[in-house]
Amino acid sequence: MLPIETSPEGVRAWCAAQRSEGRTLGFVPTMGALHEGHLQLIDALKARGAERMVVSIFVNPTQFGPTEDFAKYPRVLAADCAKLVARGVDLVFAPDQSTMVRNEERTAVRVNELTEHLCGPLRPGHFEGVATVVTKLLSIVGPCDAAFGRKDYQQFKVIERLVTDLFLPVRVHGIPTVREPDGLALSSRNAYLSLEERLRAAVVPNALRAAVEAHTHGERDASVVRSVLQNALREVDRIEYAEVCDADTLRPLPDKTADRVLFVLAVRVGNTRLIDNFVTTEDVLFRSA
Ligand code: AMP
Repeated sequence: MLPIETSPEGVRAWCAAQRSEGRTLGFVPTMGALHEGHLQLIDALKARGAERMVVSIFVNPTQFGPTEDFAKYPRVLAADCAKLVARGVDLVFAPDQSTMVRNEERTAVRVNELTEHLCGPLRPGHFEGVATVVTKLLSIVGPCDAAFGRKDYQQFKVIERLVTDLFLPVRVHGIPTVREPDGLALSSRNAYLSLEERLRAAVVPNALRAAVEAHTHGERDASVVRSVLQNALREVDRIEYAEVCDADTLRPLPDKTADRVLFVLAVRVGNTRLIDNFVTTEDVLFRSA
C-alpha cells in the first residue's frame, strides 16, 4: 500500500525517520493527472541515487488566474497513485487547500527579474503562487534532491533562483521534456484538446524545430529566427509570445543571438494554452512526425 499523507506534520515525521536511517530523499512536486513526463522526473532522481521518493499532488489555486482552468483541472488521485506505486514511489503528499494556502497576504515568496518576461506579465501572481507553494513543500519534505521539468523552463529557473537565494538545502534538477511521437510536449492540459486541435498542436514542436534549425545553420539575427518561429505558428489560434531569449535571464534578445539561446513560446490551440521551449546546446532536437 502506498501511504498517502495529507498533513505536513505526518510528512515531516515520515521524512525525518528516513533521514535518521541514513536514506536520501528525492522529491517531485506535481499537480497530479500524471503522465510519463511526471514519471520520468521520478526515474531521474532514482537514477541519481535517491533512496526514498516522495511525490506531492496538489492543484495549487494560487498559481491560477481568475479566468484560468483551476475548477476544471483534472483530479484523478486514485489513478495517479497506481502510476506512482508502479514507479516505486514511497510516499504521496496530497494536502488539502486550506492546509497549503493560508496567510499569503502576510507571507509569500516573490522572485523578481526572471518573472518580468514571458509568462510573468501574462499570468499576474502565477509565479508568486508557484514559488510560495514550492517553498512550503520543500520545507515540509526536506529532500536532498528535487526534480522539475524543463518543459516549464521559466518555472524551473524561478525555482533554481529561489533555492539559491533562500539558501534552501536541496539540489534542484531540470529534467528534459518528454514528448509525444509527433513532438508535442506531454501536458495534463493536452486532454482538453479535441482531435482536430490535437493534430494541429503538432505545429508547436515543429515551429520550435524550424527556429532551432535556422539557428543551428548559422542564423544569428534574433529578429530573423524570431520570425521563423512566429511564421511557423500560423496554424495556432493565438500566439501569446514566441521569443528568442537569453537562457539565463530570460530576456528577449534584441539583435544578435549567442550559441546558447532559449526559444520559448505560449500559444492557444482552441481554448487550450500550450507552452514549449528549447535551449540550444542543452536540449536534444526531437524528430517531427
Ligand atoms: P505539473 O503537474 O504540470 O505542475 O508538473 C509537475 C512537474 O512535471 C513540473 O516540474 C513540470 O515541469 C513537469 N512536467 C510536466 N510535463 C512534463 C513533460 N512533458 N516533460 C517533463 N517534465 C514535465
